[in-house]
Amino acid sequence: MSSDIIDSILHLKAQRRAILLAHNYQRPEVQDIADFIGDSLELSRKAATIDCDVIVFCGVHFMAESASILSPDKIVLLPELNAGCPMADMVTVSERRRVKEHFKGYVEQPVYQFPHEFTLRDMKTKYPGVPVVAYVNTTAAVKAESDICCTSANVIDVVNSMDSDIIISVPDKNLSMWAQRHSNKRIITWDGFCNVHDRITKTDVVQARATYPNAILIAHPECPLEVLELADHVASTSGMIRFCKASDQREFIIATETGILHRLKKDSPEKLFHPLRSDMVCPNMKMTTLNSVLKALQEMKNIVKVDEEIRIKAKTALDRMLSIK
Ligand code: SF4
Repeated sequence: MSSDIIDSILHLKAQRRAILLAHNYQRPEVQDIADFIGDSLELSRKAATIDCDVIVFCGVHFMAESASILSPDKIVLLPELNAGCPMADMVTVSERRRVKEHFKGYVEQPVYQFPHEFTLRDMKTKYPGVPVVAYVNTTAAVKAESDICCTSANVIDVVNSMDSDIIISVPDKNLSMWAQRHSNKRIITWDGFCNVHDRITKTDVVQARATYPNAILIAHPECPLEVLELADHVASTSGMIRFCKASDQREFIIATETGILHRLKKDSPEKLFHPLRSDMVCPNMKMTTLNSVLKALQEMKNIVKVDEEIRIKAKTALDRMLSIK
């Protein structure tokens, strides 16, 4: 059955001149049919360099937007249009909305009372002239309203590159505090978080270390600072993949979304990988299935296209980041 679906996907992919991109957190079967697997920016940059007409982005909404920002002439399809990133949606440019209502569309997503009584423009008014660093996990509109973007891999370099001693960093409080710890800048953080990583506690670390005494712990910087301080290594998803492949160690505890374990095990079948917690699962990342990829290619409906005025401004923020390193 799934081989029929895969055949149909491959057939349509060739017919539409499409490439299939899958984020490191996607389901294993989706990763296995992808042309490229990686983190969000890595994939969008890759897509921009490839001669194709259609990009099928197996990930969440802001990632498809980033692909559209960098490849405005290509059709970007998001197989599941409701696959969003709750953290990205925790900061808006000017829209005041109740998160409870906004979160209704998310499957199995805990509801957080995150009042949007404060917007990015309010923050800029409160701190006039203070530059804004936007994590790539933001909407295109927020990127357009920001001075520069950052990823979890380069946030420290980006922050250190700024002329100002004070910086506004949105939306992830944990990533911002991690950057603050490694920088002399004063960082004004937004109160956003990833609900997959933010739930991790010191107790989880202690328990995992007791269970796997020979393993080293690698954590994603979206985890709370107290967890990062206990980790042997802190890295983005792509950084984790590189680190584990190159490491002499044989056993690892991985503190990020469990989808990455598929890639880690494939890259290093002789090594052992354990999730820090087996429930580190992002429901939005798991929405995309082989069926939804097939449907997207058949119907060509779930198109994500960023408004040109926003796209140009957002691209400026991304380009500034890319010029740093
Ligand atoms: S894992 Fe966290 S940051 Fe990534 S898409 Fe899910 S909620 Fe957003």
